Amino acid sequence: MSKIAVWIEHEAGAPKRSALEALGAACAVSKDVLAIVTGAGAGDVAGKLGAHGASAAVAIEGGPKSPDALARDVAAACRDAGAKAFLAASTSSGRDLAPRVAAHLDSNLFSDCTALEAAGDGLRVTRPWLAGKVIAKLDTKGPVLCATLRRNTFEPATGGATAQVTNRPASADFKAMLVDVAAKAGGKLDVSEAPIVVSGGRGMKGPEHFHLLEELAAAFGNAAVGASRAVVDSGWRPHGEQVGQTGKTVSPQLYIAVGISGAIQHLAGMKTAKVIVAINKDKDAPIFKLADYGIVGDAFEVLPALTQAVRELRAQG
Ligand SMILES: Cc1cc2nc3c(=O)[nH]c(=O)nc-3n(C[C@H](O)[C@H](O)[C@H](O)COP(=O)(O)OP(=O)(O)OC[C@H]3O[C@@H](n4cnc5c(N)ncnc54)[C@H](O)[C@@H]3O)c2cc1C
Repeated sequence: MSKIAVWIEHEAGAPKRSALEALGAACAVSKDVLAIVTGAGAGDVAGKLGAHGASAAVAIEGGPKSPDALARDVAAACRDAGAKAFLAASTSSGRDLAPRVAAHLDSNLFSDCTALEAAGDGLRVTRPWLAGKVIAKLDTKGPVLCATLRRNTFEPATGGATAQVTNRPASADFKAMLVDVAAKAGGKLDVSEAPIVVSGGRGMKGPEHFHLLEELAAAFGNAAVGASRAVVDSGWRPHGEQVGQTGKTVSPQLYIAVGISGAIQHLAGMKTAKVIVAINKDKDAPIFKLADYGIVGDAFEVLPALTQAVRELRAQG
């Protein structure tokens, strides 16, 4: 496979895990992977990417915080490098950038892909359609295949070497500019980013019982609380936590569904989780058909015991 360019989102001087997953996906199908890093600190981050499989890196430091200028710069870097594919993680920023880059490259965009494979000299992507009921494999006739990749689906590459870093100037022209980004109060992990998601459904009986899920999430240390739509529609939890067809799609390492029946619209948002655990007092609940592990029991008895067990295990190291 010829050259693949990957946009590397970074934070606090380090590439985001989702970006390293996209880099890993590219490295699995090509030996010629160009990492493109943008914004303040791009040079420092670019210097670290050889260790994650990049064969070369481009740093586009500084410039205005403008989505249109960013897309133009990234597309120009792809074009000048002769990249035949452009990948970004399916984060909010990646989803904002990738269609703009695709437009600049006169290409189409495949979003939220769950697999990549080499096909001749090009790439083929896999994408769930219709809430995951159909799995599509897609090629492009466009000059460059552009795709966003679902988080927690690909493994970051390990054991690379040093990548040569080239610096490019950032555009000064822009049409729109990002003025401010306000962090959500509490700084909690987002369901779509967390490696572990503990979700509650109507079986939690009311918002006053969600502390049981928050305590389990806190015991894991790296988990987020999610919710079914029934819960969100009842105003028990914010929409940002909703998992499913009309909520967020998550692919964590571990998904724990508590008091959730397993409606198809909920499954559409979490069925690609690596390990699914269901806790439900109804042994015939549909969620058990998908779950890797099932606990038939009352959430109000199971959750405290599970939280205690996780705390003890973590205390043992
Ligand atoms: C167009 C459309 C889009 C939708 N999008 C979404 C979406 O994005 N996400 C989503 O989640 N849903 C979505 N839905 C709604 C979906 O169809 C279901 O109605 C919803 O997922 C049900 O939520 P639930 O599992 O929490 O509730 P229920 O179906 O009421 O299930 C509650 C479960 O809790 C169990 N339970 C009760 N008490 C206890 C207890 N003490 N301990 C353990 N278990 C207990 C019950 O056995 C039951 O299985 C959508 C529907 C439509 C039509």
